[in-house]
Amino acid sequence: ARLALLGAQVLVPLPGQGELAGLICLGARAAQETYTERDLESLIVIAELAAAAIQRAQIVEDLERQVNQLHVMTRLAEGLNITSAFDDILELIYTQANQGIPTQDFFITLSGETGFNTSHAFYLQKNERLLEQENRPISERHDLSLEVIRTGNSIITDDYGRECRQRAYLPAVEGLYSWMAAPLLTSNATIGAISLGSRDPAILYTDTQLELLESIADQAAGAIAKARLLHDAERRAAQLTVLNDVARSMSSTLDIDPLLDQILQSAVDLLDCEAGSLLMVDESNGDLVFQVATGPVASSLLGRRLPAGTGLAGKVAEAGQPVIANTVSESSDWFSETDADTGFSTQSVLALPLQAKEKIIGVIEVINKRDGSPFNAEEQELLTVFTGQAAVAIENARLYTLTDRELAARVEELSVLQRIDRELNASLDIKRTMEITLDWSLKQSDSDAGLIGTAEDGSLYVLASAGYKALDNRDLRAHGLIAAALSSGSAQVDVGGGEETLLPGALSRTVIPVRREEEVIGILLLESGEADHYPPEKLRFLSRLSDHAAIAISNAQLYQEVQEANLAKSDFVSFVSHELKTPMTSIKGYTDLLSAGSVGPVSDAQANFLSTIRSNVDRMATLVSDLADISRIEVGKLRLEFGTVSVADLIDEVVRSTRRQVEEKNQTLTVDMEDEGLEAWGDRTRLIQVLTNLVSNANKYTPADGKIWIRAGTSAEEGDLPVVHIAVEDDGIGISDEDQKQIFQKFFRSDDQKAREAPGTGLGLNITKSLVEMQGGEIWFESEYRKGTTFHFTIPISDQ
Ligand code: ADP
Repeated sequence: ARLALLGAQVLVPLPGQGELAGLICLGARAAQETYTERDLESLIVIAELAAAAIQRAQIVEDLERQVNQLHVMTRLAEGLNITSAFDDILELIYTQANQGIPTQDFFITLSGETGFNTSHAFYLQKNERLLEQENRPISERHDLSLEVIRTGNSIITDDYGRECRQRAYLPAVEGLYSWMAAPLLTSNATIGAISLGSRDPAILYTDTQLELLESIADQAAGAIAKARLLHDAERRAAQLTVLNDVARSMSSTLDIDPLLDQILQSAVDLLDCEAGSLLMVDESNGDLVFQVATGPVASSLLGRRLPAGTGLAGKVAEAGQPVIANTVSESSDWFSETDADTGFSTQSVLALPLQAKEKIIGVIEVINKRDGSPFNAEEQELLTVFTGQAAVAIENARLYTLTDRELAARVEELSVLQRIDRELNASLDIKRTMEITLDWSLKQSDSDAGLIGTAEDGSLYVLASAGYKALDNRDLRAHGLIAAALSSGSAQVDVGGGEETLLPGALSRTVIPVRREEEVIGILLLESGEADHYPPEKLRFLSRLSDHAAIAISNAQLYQEVQEANLAKSDFVSFVSHELKTPMTSIKGYTDLLSAGSVGPVSDAQANFLSTIRSNVDRMATLVSDLADISRIEVGKLRLEFGTVSVADLIDEVVRSTRRQVEEKNQTLTVDMEDEGLEAWGDRTRLIQVLTNLVSNANKYTPADGKIWIRAGTSAEEGDLPVVHIAVEDDGIGISDEDQKQIFQKFFRSDDQKAREAPGTGLGLNITKSLVEMQGGEIWFESEYRKGTTFHFTIPISDQ
């Protein structure tokens, strides 16, 4: 109160009106001091000066701020113009906003493209960018930015928490005071919001700052929209390229396993996911089986089964509709056991059915997008197109594999049957045939034991068996399964009927009938220690095998019958020839006696008759001895007595014994020998028979006055030992080309009239050939029709 006061207003004029900006006051403590009018005037001047100075300063500050803001906007605009990468744009928006309004908590929130989940595209909390918070769906009424996006209006508040409560929102971040958000507006929509807040209660955002944020938001919105479009277009183009590539390579793969791998990998790559599985429907029970899996726990999934209808995949397979579950933990369909077992954390799943021709053949699941964003309808659509193609490719590959496998099995079976046939045909022995059949049956059906037997006259004869320790002689015919096969003629399988098995502990058994035409000629029994060992396709194969065996068995049986008949014939022939020999000898003896006149004089006519009798008996004797020889040769009973034979002696003997015949036809027989000492190794009697036969033929088939030569020497094929070579040549009737092919056949006689003039049986050359070959030689001939014939044969040289 004792102070003398002097005061003046400092008036700072603002455009339009003056405004009290402050006061300048001063006082004096000395009682004697008083202020004068002049003092006041001075103070007023000072105050006016001060006001002017302050005003200037404020203008400068304001200008500076505006310059700064302009700066921010310019740099933002520049930056946005040259940046097209989406994340770079977001980063640029933040940096520039931070220049204008420094903050540690800054968010860019974007609404989903097709009305789907809204998420943070940029999340900075306490100066730290939290990528894990980005691209995650924001639940409804969580974060006030959603309100800004919804209304398209900015919000500014001094207390974020309170504002949230008032508007019934949950705060996205705790500890924020002043907060503001501006919408990202494009010409026709609000695509998101930019928000920022302060953790310092003393900082209060001003409307000017909000204006700056709004300007930034306006600038950013266009850039973001453009970048998004570009980003989308690029992504879609990339996806389409992948889709095309995959479709092309899928349709060229017919190998099912690599194809499934490829399909899943492509689906996972297409949406850039962390993991994925491909499950196929097991047609026998509808289970879904994990066929292929990728991701951190892939290996532990393979082969796992989801019973029909279980879990999300089961639902998808059942309904045939794709499902998006972006928070699987909240989905009641999610089969959490798999995660619990593998330790993998499934966040979001897109599951699609694999459908081929009305039929659901499997399910593809792609799990957790790498950028954390949720699956959306567009991605579902993309993958639906993809799975459509994939299902067709899988179906094609399956069909191909199936036909391929069937063909391979058929080829394999045919080649097995061919090998069996070859073996079977090589054997004409029934027992051996049975053994071969059984061997192959056991091997091909992977059985543990088996037997094969023939059914004859109400009994079953086991001809081959394997795998049984001791096969007791119980009556197999009475055995239920065998009896059924015998009576029905069709394959039987024991489905655990409880009948006693031949193999102790056998769990499955089959009996295949061996049929010849309609008749069951035997059975093939196979047993295995394994249950259900004889499925239909195996039975079909065994039946085919038994059909082949049946042919071989009946061939062997026929052969055996023929053999037996042949033996009987040979026996008969040798019996008859033996029985004829004695009476013929006596006829011959008495004829000779009569001819010689020993029992009285013989008239010319009688002598003539006797000579006819004699020559016919000779023919008969030859025939009988030829028949005897042939049957002995056939049954392998002709015994040879080998020794050294002088070729000169041999020829001498033959010349002597045929002399009469030769002279009768007035033919000349010339012998031409290289070496008188030549010796052969053979049976003397049989060699005489051979040479006699040839000389006698030469004589028979050469007209009167003809010529015959016997030539003897040695000859040698290159690399072989030399052999005795004898040739009988004539200038007779010759042999026609047609006949040449047949003259060594049994009972062959030419139709040639000239040949027919001479008597014969057609057995001589056949026996001759056998005899030569039995002695290790060869026989051949050359002949010219009506010019002559030469027969050659060889015999080993004696080295004794
Ligand atoms: P066969 O003399 O008893 O008729 P072969 O087996 O000795 O029986 O001879 C068979 C056939 O071969 C004779 O019927 C004859 O037609 C023909 N043949 C054999 N040798 C001669 C030959 N030297 N010249 C012409 N034909 C011959």
